[in-house]
Amino acid sequence: MKDTRILIVDDDAGIRDTMHEFIGMSGYEATAAASAEEALDILNDKDADVVITDISLPGMDGLELTDRIRKNYDADVIVITGYSADYSYEEAISKGASDFLFKPVRFAELLLRLKRVLKERQLTQERVKMLEQLQKLATTDGLTKLYNSRHFYNQLMLEVDRSNRYNPPLSLLLLDIDHFKEYNDNYGHLEGDKVLVRLAQIIESCLRKLDTAYRYGGEEFTVILPETTGDEAETVAHRIKSAVVAEKFQPRAGEKVSVTVSIGVTQYVPTEDITAFVKRADAAMYASKDEGRNTVSCLFAD
Ligand code: GH3
Ligand code: MG
Ligand code: MG
Repeated sequence: MKDTRILIVDDDAGIRDTMHEFIGMSGYEATAAASAEEALDILNDKDADVVITDISLPGMDGLELTDRIRKNYDADVIVITGYSADYSYEEAISKGASDFLFKPVRFAELLLRLKRVLKERQLTQERVKMLEQLQKLATTDGLTKLYNSRHFYNQLMLEVDRSNRYNPPLSLLLLDIDHFKEYNDNYGHLEGDKVLVRLAQIIESCLRKLDTAYRYGGEEFTVILPETTGDEAETVAHRIKSAVVAEKFQPRAGEKVSVTVSIGVTQYVPTEDITAFVKRADAAMYASKDEGRNTVSCLFAD
């Protein structure tokens, strides 16, 4: 609780000091400001979890402060107003306030409301984290930690859209491990899995900033290369091919084995559909198989 930061904003020194002391005694890390402007300065310096602000302040008022905090900072706001009722509950909530209190503030009530806001805040944070984890699970391949094929198609769709709209080149690699069934048969599926994991790392290490790698199928990978011509993509493919051959696996003591990949390279042709694009990368990959594997083949539309 000590690391929960509460910022109190009130221009009345008496109220401000009493609240500051009370919140501090309740176990929170409390800070106080005499104006909205001072409060924003404090927030720029260090985030708060909850801001408790008087609505009527000299200069910027508490509603405007609430609005700014909700737009620019990650803090909840509780607003306090006098009985004069110059400001309504609805107004405060519409600016994003989490709760509303009347003066004179009863501290027991303030504490209850603060605890409730903090609890909701915690639940929201947990929900956001869980959604992020779910999102990650839904787009990631469990074994290699690369993106999965579902995410591949989603991303490819976005990149194809962008290429059609703004015309940057867009290229695609499709990689398939050579004679991988044999590797599994010789050394077992678990050793095969280790190859998949390592190859995923090798592929990623060969990519530039915008490129993304995916596990497309069992022993097949794809790479999307935005803003890249087929010729440039071919260079990346050769880099991957060489890095893969150079890697030595040791599926059995004393035995050093290398694996190879066949790679297909192609560039997107404006307005063609995704299926034609992926099919051409696949055909290029099969051309590499036909040429004896451990090869890069390019297939460009005429
Ligand atoms: P080619 O050079 O023609 O591609 O030969 P290949 O043996 O690699 O091709 P094939 O399509 O006949 O076999 C693919 C193999 O990939 C079969 C399967 O055991 C293996 N494989 C696919 N997914 C996995 C996986 O998740 N783990 C492991 N260890 N092996 C896998
Ligand atoms: Mg295959
Ligand atoms: Mg294969």
